Amino acid sequence: MAKLTVEDLDLEGKKVLMRVDFNVPIKDGVIGNDNRIVAALKTIQYVTDKGGRAILLSHLGRIKKEEDKPALSMRPVAERLSNLLNKPVTFVPTTEGTQLEDAINGLNNGDVLVMENTRYEDVVNGEYVKRESGNDPELGKYWASLGDVFVNDAFGTAHRAHASNVGIASNMPQAAAGFLMEKEIKFIGEAVDNPVHPFVAILGGAKVSDKIGVINNLLSKADKVIVGGGMTYTFYAAQGMTIGNSLVEVDKIDLAKEILDKAGDKLVLPIDSVVAKEFNNDAEHKIVEGNIPDGYMALDIGPKSVDLFKDVLKDAKTVVWNGPMGVFEMSNYAKGTLEVGEFLGTLTDATTIVGGGDSTAAVQQLGVGDRLTHISTGGGASLEYLEGKTLPGIASISDK
Ligand code: AMP
Repeated sequence: MAKLTVEDLDLEGKKVLMRVDFNVPIKDGVIGNDNRIVAALKTIQYVTDKGGRAILLSHLGRIKKEEDKPALSMRPVAERLSNLLNKPVTFVPTTEGTQLEDAINGLNNGDVLVMENTRYEDVVNGEYVKRESGNDPELGKYWASLGDVFVNDAFGTAHRAHASNVGIASNMPQAAAGFLMEKEIKFIGEAVDNPVHPFVAILGGAKVSDKIGVINNLLSKADKVIVGGGMTYTFYAAQGMTIGNSLVEVDKIDLAKEILDKAGDKLVLPIDSVVAKEFNNDAEHKIVEGNIPDGYMALDIGPKSVDLFKDVLKDAKTVVWNGPMGVFEMSNYAKGTLEVGEFLGTLTDATTIVGGGDSTAAVQQLGVGDRLTHISTGGGASLEYLEGKTLPGIASISDK
C-alpha cells in the first residue's frame, strides 16, 4: 500500500495518538452495540503489544449545546474497552488541559488511555464553535503535541476534515493507517482505482439523487453497472414505462435519461418486480414483468431480474455493492437482496465488497456477510470513496 501503516512505525515507548471510531449507539449510558469497539481492538492491541502507549480519541454523536455533553460522554466506552481488553483503561473526562497531560505523561508502555469525546470541543462556554468538526488549527496542533506518532483507524470519519483526524495528522511527523483503515483503502480504494476486470457494480437503495456521484464514477470504471432498489423506477419513468405508485424522483427523470443514453448496455436494470398494493409487508403482492400496473408499487426485484443479475455477475473478478435491491427490512421484499447477496458469497474467485450504510445492515441481517471479502465500516465515507472523491482523512495519512 502507498500509505504508511501502523506496522511501519516504531512504537516502543512512544505516545501513540490513535483516532478510532467509537461512535457507538448509546442510550442512558448503555451501549447498544459494541461492534465498532470490537473492530478497533486489533490495532489497539498491536500498538500496546509493541510497547506503545495508546492514547485514544473518538467522537461520539453530535454535540451542539452544553446539555448534550453528559449523555455523550466516552466514559461507558472506556469501561467497555477495558472489559474487552481485559485490562485497566484510564479514562480522562476532558479533552485538554493539565489533567489530560498529566495522565498521558503517567502512562507506561502498553497502557491505554481514552480521552473524552472529541466533540466536547464543538461547544465551548455554551457556544457552538465547532472546534473539532470545523478543524480548528489550534486544536489539531494541541492534540498533536500530546503524542509522538499518529495512527488513524477511523474510516467512518475519513470523508470529513476534523481536528482529530486531519488536524492532528498535519501537525505530526508521521501519520499512519490502522488495520481497519488499511483494509478500507486496500479494498475500496483498489476496486475504484485499479480493479481486476470484469468489474461489476451493483447499486441499489432508495434514491438516484443519493447515488448519482457513485453511478457516474462507477460507469466510467466498471464493465457493468447493475441498478436495483427504489432507484430503478426513476429509470423506468425515464424510459417512458409506467411505474404505478413506486418510488420516483420526478426531478431526476431527465438525469436518468442522460445516464441511460451515456451508459448504453453497460447499465443493467431489473426486468421484473415484486409489486404490492401498499408499503406494508402484509399487503397483497405479486410479481410483474416490465411496467408497474396502476395501484401497485414496486418493492423488490423479481426472480427473472435475479437470474439476469447472476448472469452478469458470474464471471466478475471485482464486485462492489452499495444499496439493497428492495425493501429488505420487510421479509416479503427481502428476497432480491438476499439472493444477490448469497450469489456474491459463491463468487470465490472474485473480490466482493459491500460499500457500507444500509447495504452493510442488509448483508448482516441476511447473514451473508461472512462469505464476502470486505464489508465497509463507513456509510458516508464509503459512498464518497466510491464516488472517486479524495477523502481528507486518508489524504492526510503519510505516504510510504
Ligand atoms: P439507501 O440508504 O439509499 O441505500 O437506501 C436504502 C433504503 O432503500 C432501504 O431502507 C430500503 O427499504 C429502501 N428501498 C429499497 N428498494 C426500495 C423500493 N423499491 N421502494 C422503496 N424503498 C426501497
